[in-house]
Amino acid sequence: MLKHLFAAASLSLVMSSTALAQGASPPSAAPKAEAPRQARNVIVFLADAGGVPSVNAASLLGYGEPLKLHIQKWPNLGLSETSPVDQFVSDSANGMSSIMTGVKTRNGVISQSPAAVRGKVDGAPTKTLLEYAEQRGLRTGVVTSEPITDATPAATYAHSNDREKWGEIFQQAFSPRFGDGVDVMFGAGRRKIGEQLAARGSGFDQLAKAHDRPIYAQLEDASQANTRPVVVADQIDVRAAALRALDLLQSSPKGYLLVIEWDAHTDDPRKGLQNIVDLDKLIAEIEGRVDLKDTLLLFTADHSFGLQVDGGRRGEPVLEGYDAWKAAGKDEDVVRLKNVMVNRSHTGEEVVALATGAGAERVRGYFPNTHLFQIMMDAWGWKPDAAN
Ligand SMILES: [Zn+2]
Repeated sequence: MLKHLFAAASLSLVMSSTALAQGASPPSAAPKAEAPRQARNVIVFLADAGGVPSVNAASLLGYGEPLKLHIQKWPNLGLSETSPVDQFVSDSANGMSSIMTGVKTRNGVISQSPAAVRGKVDGAPTKTLLEYAEQRGLRTGVVTSEPITDATPAATYAHSNDREKWGEIFQQAFSPRFGDGVDVMFGAGRRKIGEQLAARGSGFDQLAKAHDRPIYAQLEDASQANTRPVVVADQIDVRAAALRALDLLQSSPKGYLLVIEWDAHTDDPRKGLQNIVDLDKLIAEIEGRVDLKDTLLLFTADHSFGLQVDGGRRGEPVLEGYDAWKAAGKDEDVVRLKNVMVNRSHTGEEVVALATGAGAERVRGYFPNTHLFQIMMDAWGWKPDAAN
């Protein structure tokens, strides 16, 4: 009886083996894996320093259980190797440059070839996905919890031999090599970017006037009529900024690229892990607003970080002891909480790449992070220039 119930449960595997046992002709060949669908739009969610252990711990912090994050339900995953050309451990500059250009480089270098010497010698600019998208008439956006000139967002739109050159990096956003440059820029860093611009004899007002493009000091100031808003704030509400950017880009006639970075360094473990929880919620919200038939969603990190859950029981807060640690105000290389240890350093192990939507099937196996560039180009059906 039980057997029949199972057969009736219509698991296709059970059905077909039952049919075979009864001497019926074998079912027509198993459905062939369909060719990946072509993407019109790509959204990259970058948890800066959000390695596998931090993703695990974020689920424990947010939900008290593993595997509760939205992204942990996505069907496609791979492990992305992040090192620069000459070391084992990456910084954000090399990590994001590799993803955005398909070319690994050196730590500190923003989307230039590894011939670059940090702070001294330029390498050839390596063309970024955002530049490919601009060249083809797509609309583009960069949203970050961090300064808009920080290494990770910078690697999408600028080329520099030193990630610290914020004035130069910001100015490049207004003198793009392809198309009309980043259409929507929402980030922080207003004070320091302003200082660096001043040191170069420029400033927000001068840049805005020269390029007839206002640079707002907060998201709320950006005019609704402005379809290419630039906001450089002291602090950014990432969720509000990302949803606004998505609204603006979704009216693009030819598709869009949107890159959303949220810091996930766990020097302060609660802050970093909560950022992953919040980013994950934002991803679920954004997924509800796009059509996965023509949009690729990719979650990854530029490099990993030395956090480990090495103890604890179900029902107990994963960050047990955090408040006491925070109150003590110690600035140590290693944070030792009851269940979590943080070696406050970038680490070399692979980070997860998770994907859903058009072209997501290509995300599988171990690969160098430069493969993510190829996956996104393939999703659009684009070929890289010969020089790349
Ligand atoms: Zn980073």
